[in-house]
Amino acid sequence: MSPRERSNPAKVRSFDNTALGLLPEYNQAAHALNKLIHALNKAEVGLSQEQWLTAVRDLTAAIPFMDACNCCRNYRQASAPVKTEIRRDGWMTAYYRCDDCGHRWTCGWATSAPDYL
Ligand SMILES: [Zn+2]
Repeated sequence: MSPRERSNPAKVRSFDNTALGLLPEYNQAAHALNKLIHALNKAEVGLSQEQWLTAVRDLTAAIPFMDACNCCRNYRQASAPVKTEIRRDGWMTAYYRCDDCGHRWTCGWATSAPDYL
């Protein structure tokens, strides 16, 4: 670890999320991610800070592609993709796992389809 990395191991950078911070969901998302960090540490997954930041970035980018489990028909809480494979034709394959029944499935999506913002 370089001296620069030792002085900022969280890899925080200057940012301004003031507009987001006005929404209570901003802190709710932070609390959910904090809970995930604690679960990762307890499970000893062993992600580096860089891997954690990449995983959170990928998770948030994949939110428009959440999908419901057809096995247990858990439509109240959709699952986020746990893995994606971007294809050259503008499509991707997203991989899912249901927290309720453990079912695993894939879904093909046009990467241009959802536009949440
Ligand atoms: Zn299910």
